[in-house]
Amino acid sequence: MRIVIAGGSGFLGSHLSDALVARGDQVVCIDNFVTGRRSNVAHLLDQDSFELIEGDICDAVHVDGDVDAVMNLASPASPKDYSAFPIETLDVGSIGTRNLLELARAKNATFFMASTSEVYGDPFVHPQTEDYWGNVNPIGERSMYDEAKRFSEALTFAYHRTHGVAIRVVRIFNTYGPRMQSDDGRVVSNFITQALRGDPLTIYGDGSQTRSFCFVDDEVRGFIALLDSNEIGPINIGNPGEFTMLELADLVTELTGSTAGIVFEPLPSDDPKQRCPDITQAREKLGWEPGIDLRTGLERTIPHFAAELGL
Ligand code: NAD
Ligand code: UDP
Repeated sequence: MRIVIAGGSGFLGSHLSDALVARGDQVVCIDNFVTGRRSNVAHLLDQDSFELIEGDICDAVHVDGDVDAVMNLASPASPKDYSAFPIETLDVGSIGTRNLLELARAKNATFFMASTSEVYGDPFVHPQTEDYWGNVNPIGERSMYDEAKRFSEALTFAYHRTHGVAIRVVRIFNTYGPRMQSDDGRVVSNFITQALRGDPLTIYGDGSQTRSFCFVDDEVRGFIALLDSNEIGPINIGNPGEFTMLELADLVTELTGSTAGIVFEPLPSDDPKQRCPDITQAREKLGWEPGIDLRTGLERTIPHFAAELGL
């Protein structure tokens, strides 16, 4: 297949590019590097099956030749990043998504939308099933991201219903692994970076809030299973192992040998109290489930951060 990946130089996009190139697909990566890095795909640049286009998908998107799939991973993704780029985040979820849907329509290609567990907001249904409509503050401090993704999902389904575009919508739950940026502000990046530097780990709130962390290789395998299926989604791809932030801090402390302890800081507004995917659909419809538990995934991730920090 020839696959366009918008946001292909980011954390998830670069691992997806690796996996698709490895199985023999042609990848055209479009990225404006607002949060991604050229170095994430530098090792692919000398391959004939990989092409990098520097560009913003909010501008007109042109790709020559046949395209079988358009995968939209372009968006600032961490709370720190989308707070720094609120208008850009809303633009990429609306204008950018529409430009890619038009590209998919023109090329008769499948459109794959990387949505998020944030569409469930601070959820009243737990674990989250795909039929839950969510509890999102439309004007809150996370709204530029949550509502952009909800709009992207709506637009994707409108193109499917109106123009017959083949679609796949994945709802991604917190994913971690090598190539995360040490300064992206996410909890896994913060805790590992702090522990390696000998700083105390910053717990926001009382640390009782939960997240469910998926290792990047499992997540990308789920994307490809969905892309190759006939399912339109939305479908949750995430690891149902659920941890409090205190439990995560304990595990990172143990694995790094940190002795600096923890400090408590204020909880950001609208921070979801609990999050865990129900992956029944992924199991039954895609034959997918994660295989890497949090301890194993962190053991594979910590050396990446150590190298990035020069430790
Ligand atoms: P990331 O920031 O590393 O990657 C996003 C990429 O999109 C970056 O390379 C960035 O430069 C690019 N980009 C942003 N705006 C663009 C634009 N207008 N034009 C072209 N490129 C643009 O983030 P990530 O963690 O790899 O996330 C990838 C996708 O998955 C995002 O859409 C995100 O919302 C979604 N997602 C990620 C997670 C997670 O835990 N990592 C969870 C839920 C959803
Ligand atoms: N968090 C924390 N300390 C940090 C960074 C984040 O306790 O240094 C908390 C944050 O408040 C949230 C959870 O960890 O409850 C996950 O945060 P992250 O930004 O990684 O992901 P998201 O909130 O988007 O799921």
